[in-house]
Amino acid sequence: MAPAALAPSPITPTVDFDRDGVQHGFLRLPYSRDDSAWGSVMIPLTVVRNGSGPTALLTGANHGDEYEGAVALFDLAQTLTADRVAGRVIIVPAMNYPAFQAGTRTSPIDKGNLNRSFPGRPDGTVTQKIADYFTRELLPLADLVMDIHSGGRTLDFVPFAAAHILPDKDQEARCFAAVAAFAAPFSMRMLEIDAVGMYDTAAEELGKTFVTTELGGGGTGRAETIAIAKRGVRNVLRHAGILTDGQAGGSQSVGGQPAEASRWLDMPSADCFRFAEDSGLIEACVDLGQPVRKGDLLARIHPIGRTGLAPAEYRAALDGILAARHFPGLVKAGDCIAVVGTVES
Ligand code: CA
Repeated sequence: MAPAALAPSPITPTVDFDRDGVQHGFLRLPYSRDDSAWGSVMIPLTVVRNGSGPTALLTGANHGDEYEGAVALFDLAQTLTADRVAGRVIIVPAMNYPAFQAGTRTSPIDKGNLNRSFPGRPDGTVTQKIADYFTRELLPLADLVMDIHSGGRTLDFVPFAAAHILPDKDQEARCFAAVAAFAAPFSMRMLEIDAVGMYDTAAEELGKTFVTTELGGGGTGRAETIAIAKRGVRNVLRHAGILTDGQAGGSQSVGGQPAEASRWLDMPSADCFRFAEDSGLIEACVDLGQPVRKGDLLARIHPIGRTGLAPAEYRAALDGILAARHFPGLVKAGDCIAVVGTVES
């Protein structure tokens, strides 16, 4: 017996995706609650369309405490004009808007982690309804999908754009060409700890050209990483032929200084990740971007219950650079404390 058809999404866009010009509006998601019986979650979005052509779908704050994407996309939405577009750009600066408003990774409404909620459900929680709308309504409109992440409150990364190894090698090549066009300081072949339920997976399974990033972290944005996001988004739109502003792409012009060429990193196996098996006070022994050799000390974790106890030592399992680290000074068993990326020759 065929599975029952899914109900229509309860989300209503206040824009017409097929109209030319610039429209600023919302995805309106009904959310009945104590302080607003017939209330809604209003997710801001902008659509810029100029004739037929490819569509780019750009998102930030999939996790609500990651800011480079939100800043770059609120800025793009406010400045992009239709005469500079060939095709269509759909901009959602804060994808999990309730989480973004709360400054938290997950939604305060339902504790939903949007990037573990795909493909979503039209009759599920608020977070599941957002995922479902992207899966069934927005992703099918798109040719190019870019989701801008950072580390949030608990992780910090060297700034990189990334794509995944995919079974369809033509699609994989399109994704890595877009990563190269982004021209972040680092470009990553990314291995996911937990790919089930990710937006990435939903976009890739629909055959889209998908680019993600990790541009910093610690629950804030820095001038450097925000500039990388703003430049990278425009670079990828030019690469796709959607942004036609006549400017050169590439890695130039961070603060007027030519940036160095992007360095390619790989995550060849789960040995990249170091997870804490102890709780306590973390002592960083290597900073982000520094080279490490297999066996080098990455961090020590000091027990904090009493003095006189030796710290636990965490060492690199392969050669590379420190690409990510736990951000807060206290760690719990199970936390990811370090990621070593290998440097491609
Ligand atoms: Ca994230």
